[in-house]
Amino acid sequence: MKNRIVEEPKRRPVAERLRKLRISIAERELDALLVSQPENRRYLSGFTGSAGWLLISEKNAILATDFRYVEPARGESPAFEIVRTARELGDWFPGLVSDSGWHKLGFEANFVSYDSHHKLGEAMESKKVDLELVPTTNLVEQLRAIKEPEELDFITEAVKLADVAFEQARAAIRPGITEKEAAWTIERLLRQEGSETVPFEIIVASGPNAALPHARPTDRIIGPGEPVIIDMGARFNGYCSDLSRTLLLGKAGNTLEEIYDIVLSAQTTAIERVESGMDATQADRLARSIIEQAGYGDAFGHGLGHGVGLAVHESPTLGPGSSGSLADGMVFTVEPGIYLTGQGGVRIEDMVVLENGRARVLTGARKDSS
Ligand code: ZN
Repeated sequence: MKNRIVEEPKRRPVAERLRKLRISIAERELDALLVSQPENRRYLSGFTGSAGWLLISEKNAILATDFRYVEPARGESPAFEIVRTARELGDWFPGLVSDSGWHKLGFEANFVSYDSHHKLGEAMESKKVDLELVPTTNLVEQLRAIKEPEELDFITEAVKLADVAFEQARAAIRPGITEKEAAWTIERLLRQEGSETVPFEIIVASGPNAALPHARPTDRIIGPGEPVIIDMGARFNGYCSDLSRTLLLGKAGNTLEEIYDIVLSAQTTAIERVESGMDATQADRLARSIIEQAGYGDAFGHGLGHGVGLAVHESPTLGPGSSGSLADGMVFTVEPGIYLTGQGGVRIEDMVVLENGRARVLTGARKDSS
Protein backbone atom coordinates (compact mmCIF):
# COMPACT_ATOMS: atom_id res chain seq x y z
CA MET A 1 0.00 0.00 0.00
CA LYS A 2 1.27 3.46 -0.95
CA ASN A 3 1.43 6.24 1.60
CA ARG A 4 -2.05 7.54 2.21
CA ILE A 5 -2.95 10.96 3.51
CA VAL A 6 -5.81 9.51 5.50
CA GLU A 7 -5.19 7.06 8.32
CA GLU A 8 -7.70 4.86 10.11
CA PRO A 9 -10.06 7.22 11.92
CA LYS A 10 -9.47 7.70 15.62
CA ARG A 11 -13.00 8.61 16.58
CA ARG A 12 -15.96 8.78 14.25
CA PRO A 13 -18.29 11.71 14.66
CA VAL A 14 -20.89 9.43 16.18
CA ALA A 15 -22.23 11.91 18.71
CA GLU A 16 -23.30 14.39 16.04
CA ARG A 17 -24.94 11.68 13.93
CA LEU A 18 -26.88 10.42 16.95
CA ARG A 19 -27.94 13.99 17.79
CA LYS A 20 -29.38 14.47 14.30
CA LEU A 21 -31.07 11.08 14.29
CA ARG A 22 -32.70 11.79 17.65
CA ILE A 23 -34.30 14.89 16.15
CA SER A 24 -35.83 12.74 13.37
CA ILE A 25 -36.99 10.15 15.91
CA ALA A 26 -38.72 12.87 17.95
CA GLU A 27 -40.27 14.45 14.85
CA ARG A 28 -41.91 11.14 14.02
CA GLU A 29 -43.19 10.83 17.60
CA LEU A 30 -41.28 7.63 18.14
CA ASP A 31 -39.71 6.65 21.45
CA ALA A 32 -36.87 4.75 19.84
CA LEU A 33 -35.53 3.39 16.57
CA LEU A 34 -34.30 -0.10 15.86
CA VAL A 35 -31.53 -0.07 13.25
CA SER A 36 -30.26 -3.23 11.58
CA GLN A 37 -29.36 -2.18 8.01
CA PRO A 38 -25.59 -2.80 7.91
CA GLU A 39 -24.39 0.54 6.51
CA ASN A 40 -26.79 2.47 8.74
CA ARG A 41 -25.55 0.50 11.73
CA ARG A 42 -21.92 1.23 10.89
CA TYR A 43 -22.61 4.90 10.18
CA LEU A 44 -24.28 5.48 13.53
CA SER A 45 -22.05 3.36 15.74
CA GLY A 46 -18.74 2.70 14.00
CA PHE A 47 -19.43 -1.03 14.42
CA THR A 48 -18.16 -3.01 11.42
CA GLY A 49 -19.44 -6.48 12.37
CA SER A 50 -21.85 -8.28 10.09
CA ALA A 51 -24.67 -8.82 12.62
CA GLY A 52 -26.24 -6.61 15.23
CA TRP A 53 -29.06 -4.29 16.16
CA LEU A 54 -28.92 -0.70 17.37
CA LEU A 55 -31.60 0.64 19.68
CA ILE A 56 -31.53 4.40 19.85
CA SER A 57 -33.75 6.57 21.99
CA GLU A 58 -33.44 10.03 23.53
CA LYS A 59 -31.38 8.57 26.39
CA ASN A 60 -30.10 5.24 25.10
CA ALA A 61 -27.67 4.02 22.51
CA ILE A 62 -27.53 0.23 22.65
CA LEU A 63 -25.70 -2.14 20.33
CA ALA A 64 -26.91 -5.72 20.60
CA THR A 65 -24.74 -8.31 18.93
CA ASP A 66 -23.75 -11.93 19.31
CA PHE A 67 -20.73 -13.39 21.09
CA ARG A 68 -18.48 -13.16 18.00
CA TYR A 69 -18.67 -9.39 17.97
CA VAL A 70 -19.06 -8.33 21.60
CA GLU A 71 -15.36 -7.57 22.08
CA PRO A 72 -14.80 -5.80 18.73
CA ALA A 73 -17.97 -3.81 19.37
CA ARG A 74 -16.59 -2.46 22.65
CA GLY A 75 -13.59 -1.11 20.77
CA GLU A 76 -15.45 0.23 17.75
CA SER A 77 -18.53 1.66 19.44
CA PRO A 78 -17.48 3.34 22.71
CA ALA A 79 -20.58 5.54 22.70
CA PHE A 80 -22.84 2.47 22.82
CA GLU A 81 -23.87 0.15 25.60
CA ILE A 82 -23.01 -3.33 24.30
CA VAL A 83 -25.53 -6.10 24.91
CA ARG A 84 -24.92 -9.73 23.99
CA THR A 85 -27.78 -11.32 22.08
CA ALA A 86 -29.07 -14.88 22.27
CA ARG A 87 -30.00 -16.95 19.25
CA GLU A 88 -33.72 -16.19 19.34
CA LEU A 89 -35.04 -12.64 19.38
CA GLY A 90 -37.58 -13.70 22.00
CA ASP A 91 -34.77 -14.61 24.41
CA TRP A 92 -33.18 -11.19 24.60
CA PHE A 93 -35.23 -8.49 22.91
CA PRO A 94 -38.24 -8.22 25.25
CA GLY A 95 -35.95 -7.98 28.28
CA LEU A 96 -34.14 -5.07 26.69
CA VAL A 97 -37.28 -3.00 26.10
CA SER A 98 -39.64 -4.15 28.86
CA ASP A 99 -38.60 -1.50 31.42
CA SER A 100 -38.00 1.23 28.87
CA GLY A 101 -41.36 2.92 29.16
CA TRP A 102 -41.41 3.16 25.35
CA HIS A 103 -44.66 2.88 23.41
CA LYS A 104 -43.60 3.30 19.80
CA LEU A 105 -40.55 1.68 18.31
CA GLY A 106 -39.58 2.54 14.74
CA PHE A 107 -38.03 -0.09 12.51
CA GLU A 108 -36.50 0.08 9.02
CA ALA A 109 -39.33 -0.98 6.76
CA ASN A 110 -37.06 -1.30 3.71
CA PHE A 111 -34.77 -3.68 5.48
CA VAL A 112 -36.46 -5.70 8.27
CA SER A 113 -37.78 -8.88 6.69
CA TYR A 114 -41.35 -10.03 7.12
CA ASP A 115 -40.01 -12.91 9.16
CA SER A 116 -37.98 -10.70 11.54
CA HIS A 117 -40.92 -8.34 11.94
CA HIS A 118 -43.17 -11.26 12.80
CA LYS A 119 -40.65 -12.61 15.32
CA LEU A 120 -40.24 -9.21 16.97
CA GLY A 121 -44.01 -8.95 17.37
CA GLU A 122 -44.27 -12.49 18.72
CA ALA A 123 -41.38 -11.99 21.13
CA MET A 124 -43.01 -8.94 22.68
CA GLU A 125 -46.42 -10.53 22.81
CA SER A 126 -45.09 -13.62 24.58
CA LYS A 127 -43.48 -11.44 27.26
CA LYS A 128 -46.48 -9.07 27.44
CA VAL A 129 -44.47 -6.05 26.31
CA ASP A 130 -46.76 -3.36 24.96
CA LEU A 131 -44.62 -1.75 22.26
CA GLU A 132 -45.98 -0.77 18.85
CA LEU A 133 -43.70 -1.44 15.86
CA VAL A 134 -43.84 1.53 13.49
CA PRO A 135 -42.41 1.29 9.95
CA THR A 136 -39.97 4.06 9.00
CA THR A 137 -37.95 4.76 5.87
CA ASN A 138 -34.82 6.80 5.17
CA LEU A 139 -34.26 8.19 8.67
CA VAL A 140 -30.58 7.26 8.62
CA GLU A 141 -30.20 7.24 4.84
CA GLN A 142 -31.08 10.92 4.62
CA LEU A 143 -28.32 11.73 7.12
CA ARG A 144 -25.86 9.59 5.18
CA ALA A 145 -26.63 11.46 1.96
CA ILE A 146 -24.81 14.58 3.22
CA LYS A 147 -21.15 13.75 3.64
CA GLU A 148 -18.99 15.07 6.45
CA PRO A 149 -15.44 16.25 5.63
CA GLU A 150 -13.93 13.03 6.96
CA GLU A 151 -16.26 10.92 4.83
CA LEU A 152 -15.35 12.99 1.79
CA ASP A 153 -11.65 12.31 2.51
CA PHE A 154 -12.30 8.56 2.53
CA ILE A 155 -14.37 8.72 -0.67
CA THR A 156 -11.66 10.79 -2.36
CA GLU A 157 -9.13 8.09 -1.49
CA ALA A 158 -11.43 5.38 -2.87
CA VAL A 159 -11.82 7.42 -6.08
CA LYS A 160 -8.03 7.78 -6.41
CA LEU A 161 -7.53 4.03 -5.97
CA ALA A 162 -9.95 3.34 -8.83
CA ASP A 163 -8.37 6.06 -11.02
CA VAL A 164 -4.87 4.63 -10.59
CA ALA A 165 -6.01 1.04 -11.14
CA PHE A 166 -7.93 2.03 -14.27
CA GLU A 167 -4.98 3.93 -15.75
CA GLN A 168 -2.81 0.87 -15.28
CA ALA A 169 -5.45 -1.51 -16.57
CA ARG A 170 -6.34 0.39 -19.73
CA ALA A 171 -3.02 -0.53 -21.38
CA ALA A 172 -3.80 -4.20 -20.77
CA ILE A 173 -7.36 -4.08 -22.11
CA ARG A 174 -6.71 -4.89 -25.73
CA PRO A 175 -8.22 -7.13 -28.41
CA GLY A 176 -7.37 -10.79 -27.81
CA ILE A 177 -8.02 -11.05 -24.07
CA THR A 178 -11.32 -12.16 -22.59
CA GLU A 179 -13.67 -10.00 -20.55
CA LYS A 180 -12.95 -12.16 -17.50
CA GLU A 181 -9.19 -11.70 -17.92
CA ALA A 182 -9.65 -7.95 -18.17
CA ALA A 183 -11.86 -7.96 -15.05
CA TRP A 184 -9.27 -9.96 -13.12
CA THR A 185 -6.50 -7.56 -14.16
CA ILE A 186 -8.58 -4.67 -12.83
CA GLU A 187 -9.41 -6.47 -9.61
CA ARG A 188 -5.78 -7.37 -8.98
CA LEU A 189 -4.68 -3.77 -9.58
CA LEU A 190 -7.39 -2.43 -7.26
CA ARG A 191 -6.26 -4.74 -4.48
CA GLN A 192 -2.58 -4.01 -5.10
CA GLU A 193 -3.27 -0.30 -4.78
CA GLY A 194 -4.86 -0.93 -1.39
CA SER A 195 -8.58 -1.23 -2.03
CA GLU A 196 -10.37 -3.14 0.77
CA THR A 197 -12.29 -5.70 -1.29
CA VAL A 198 -14.01 -4.57 -4.46
CA PRO A 199 -17.36 -3.00 -3.58
CA PHE A 200 -19.22 -4.59 -6.50
CA GLU A 201 -18.60 -7.07 -9.30
CA ILE A 202 -16.43 -5.42 -11.94
CA ILE A 203 -18.13 -5.05 -15.32
CA VAL A 204 -16.16 -5.58 -18.52
CA ALA A 205 -18.64 -5.69 -21.40
CA SER A 206 -17.35 -5.88 -24.94
CA GLY A 207 -18.95 -5.73 -28.37
CA PRO A 208 -22.68 -6.50 -28.24
CA ASN A 209 -22.37 -7.21 -24.48
CA ALA A 210 -21.74 -3.49 -24.04
CA ALA A 211 -25.41 -2.98 -24.88
CA LEU A 212 -26.29 -4.54 -21.51
CA PRO A 213 -25.87 -1.94 -18.75
CA HIS A 214 -25.14 -4.55 -16.07
CA ALA A 215 -23.39 -7.27 -18.07
CA ARG A 216 -21.18 -9.76 -16.22
CA PRO A 217 -17.69 -10.48 -17.59
CA THR A 218 -17.74 -13.57 -19.80
CA ASP A 219 -15.20 -15.72 -21.66
CA ARG A 220 -15.85 -13.63 -24.77
CA ILE A 221 -12.63 -12.51 -26.45
CA ILE A 222 -12.52 -8.76 -26.98
CA GLY A 223 -12.27 -8.03 -30.69
CA PRO A 224 -10.68 -5.17 -32.64
CA GLY A 225 -12.87 -2.14 -33.23
CA GLU A 226 -15.19 -3.06 -30.37
CA PRO A 227 -16.56 -0.93 -27.57
CA VAL A 228 -15.64 -2.08 -24.05
CA ILE A 229 -17.52 -0.71 -21.06
CA ILE A 230 -15.61 -0.96 -17.79
CA ASP A 231 -17.42 -0.28 -14.52
CA MET A 232 -15.31 -0.63 -11.39
CA GLY A 233 -14.82 0.73 -7.90
CA ALA A 234 -12.60 0.69 -4.85
CA ARG A 235 -13.21 0.82 -1.11
CA PHE A 236 -11.29 2.81 1.50
CA ASN A 237 -12.17 2.83 5.22
CA GLY A 238 -15.53 1.39 4.24
CA TYR A 239 -16.28 4.08 1.64
CA CYS A 240 -16.80 3.24 -2.03
CA SER A 241 -15.99 4.71 -5.40
CA ASP A 242 -17.66 4.01 -8.73
CA LEU A 243 -16.06 4.62 -12.12
CA SER A 244 -17.16 3.77 -15.67
CA ARG A 245 -15.27 4.32 -18.87
CA THR A 246 -15.83 3.10 -22.41
CA LEU A 247 -12.90 2.21 -24.63
CA LEU A 248 -13.28 2.00 -28.39
CA LEU A 249 -10.52 -0.36 -29.42
CA GLY A 250 -9.51 0.72 -32.89
CA LYS A 251 -11.90 1.91 -35.56
CA ALA A 252 -15.25 1.31 -33.91
CA GLY A 253 -17.44 2.66 -36.69
CA ASN A 254 -19.43 5.84 -37.07
CA THR A 255 -22.39 4.95 -34.86
CA LEU A 256 -20.31 4.06 -31.81
CA GLU A 257 -18.06 7.06 -32.25
CA GLU A 258 -21.14 9.25 -32.59
CA ILE A 259 -22.79 7.91 -29.44
CA TYR A 260 -19.50 8.25 -27.56
CA ASP A 261 -19.50 11.97 -28.30
CA ILE A 262 -23.19 12.33 -27.39
CA VAL A 263 -22.75 10.54 -24.05
CA LEU A 264 -19.63 12.58 -23.27
CA SER A 265 -21.38 15.82 -24.05
CA ALA A 266 -24.45 14.81 -21.98
CA GLN A 267 -22.17 13.86 -19.10
CA THR A 268 -20.01 16.99 -19.09
CA THR A 269 -23.05 19.25 -19.57
CA ALA A 270 -24.82 17.64 -16.59
CA ILE A 271 -21.70 18.10 -14.44
CA GLU A 272 -21.39 21.76 -15.46
CA ARG A 273 -25.05 22.59 -14.85
CA VAL A 274 -26.09 20.51 -11.87
CA GLU A 275 -26.75 22.69 -8.82
CA SER A 276 -27.62 22.38 -5.17
CA GLY A 277 -31.34 22.93 -4.68
CA MET A 278 -32.18 21.35 -8.02
CA ASP A 279 -34.70 18.50 -8.07
CA ALA A 280 -33.04 15.13 -8.69
CA THR A 281 -35.31 14.68 -11.73
CA GLN A 282 -34.15 18.03 -13.13
CA ALA A 283 -30.52 16.93 -12.81
CA ASP A 284 -31.36 13.80 -14.78
CA ARG A 285 -32.99 15.99 -17.48
CA LEU A 286 -29.73 17.90 -18.01
CA ALA A 287 -28.18 14.85 -19.63
CA ARG A 288 -31.31 13.10 -20.86
CA SER A 289 -32.48 16.04 -22.97
CA ILE A 290 -29.18 16.01 -24.90
CA ILE A 291 -29.45 12.28 -25.56
CA GLU A 292 -33.11 12.67 -26.57
CA GLN A 293 -32.33 15.52 -28.95
CA ALA A 294 -29.71 13.32 -30.60
CA GLY A 295 -32.41 10.71 -31.18
CA TYR A 296 -31.28 8.15 -28.61
CA GLY A 297 -33.73 8.83 -25.77
CA ASP A 298 -35.01 5.25 -25.72
CA ALA A 299 -31.47 3.92 -25.53
CA PHE A 300 -30.73 5.64 -22.17
CA GLY A 301 -32.72 3.26 -20.02
CA HIS A 302 -31.38 4.06 -16.55
CA GLY A 303 -31.09 7.08 -14.31
CA LEU A 304 -28.32 9.66 -14.46
CA GLY A 305 -26.71 8.70 -11.18
CA HIS A 306 -26.81 7.66 -7.56
CA GLY A 307 -25.27 8.60 -4.24
CA VAL A 308 -22.10 6.79 -3.16
CA GLY A 309 -20.75 6.39 0.37
CA LEU A 310 -20.61 3.40 2.68
CA ALA A 311 -22.84 1.76 0.05
CA VAL A 312 -22.13 1.92 -3.64
CA HIS A 313 -25.76 2.84 -4.30
CA GLU A 314 -27.37 5.15 -1.78
CA SER A 315 -29.26 8.46 -1.57
CA PRO A 316 -29.71 10.56 -3.60
CA THR A 317 -31.09 8.86 -6.72
CA LEU A 318 -30.97 10.99 -9.87
CA GLY A 319 -33.47 9.61 -12.34
CA PRO A 320 -36.69 10.40 -14.18
CA GLY A 321 -38.84 9.18 -11.28
CA SER A 322 -36.71 10.46 -8.39
CA SER A 323 -38.01 12.53 -5.52
CA GLY A 324 -36.17 15.07 -3.44
CA SER A 325 -33.62 17.68 -4.28
CA LEU A 326 -29.87 17.95 -4.28
CA ALA A 327 -27.86 19.69 -1.58
CA ASP A 328 -24.30 20.69 -0.75
CA GLY A 329 -22.34 17.79 0.70
CA MET A 330 -23.98 15.17 -1.50
CA VAL A 331 -21.66 12.83 -3.40
CA PHE A 332 -23.09 11.10 -6.45
CA THR A 333 -22.29 9.68 -9.86
CA VAL A 334 -23.04 11.27 -13.22
CA GLU A 335 -23.25 8.37 -15.66
CA PRO A 336 -25.38 8.71 -18.76
CA GLY A 337 -25.26 5.89 -21.29
CA ILE A 338 -26.55 4.84 -24.69
CA TYR A 339 -27.13 1.14 -25.37
CA LEU A 340 -27.85 -0.24 -28.84
CA THR A 341 -28.95 -3.86 -28.87
CA GLY A 342 -26.62 -6.02 -30.94
CA GLN A 343 -24.10 -3.22 -31.50
CA GLY A 344 -22.79 -2.22 -28.10
CA GLY A 345 -22.99 0.82 -25.92
CA VAL A 346 -21.25 3.68 -24.18
CA ARG A 347 -21.36 4.77 -20.53
CA ILE A 348 -19.14 7.40 -18.93
CA GLU A 349 -19.28 7.81 -15.16
CA ASP A 350 -17.62 10.27 -12.82
CA MET A 351 -18.21 10.94 -9.15
CA VAL A 352 -18.89 14.50 -8.02
CA VAL A 353 -19.48 16.33 -4.75
CA LEU A 354 -21.77 19.35 -4.48
CA GLU A 355 -19.89 22.25 -2.89
CA ASN A 356 -20.96 25.89 -2.77
CA GLY A 357 -23.88 25.02 -4.99
CA ARG A 358 -21.93 23.37 -7.82
CA ALA A 359 -20.41 20.02 -8.69
CA ARG A 360 -16.73 19.40 -8.11
CA VAL A 361 -15.50 16.35 -10.02
CA LEU A 362 -13.72 13.82 -7.81
CA THR A 363 -12.82 11.35 -10.57
CA GLY A 364 -9.50 11.89 -12.32
CA ALA A 365 -9.44 9.06 -14.90
CA ARG A 366 -9.04 10.26 -18.48
CA LYS A 367 -12.13 10.25 -20.68
CA ASP A 368 -10.62 9.63 -24.10
CA SER A 369 -11.89 6.45 -25.67
CA SER A 370 -8.64 4.80 -26.74
ZN1 ZN B 1 -22.69 3.77 -10.80
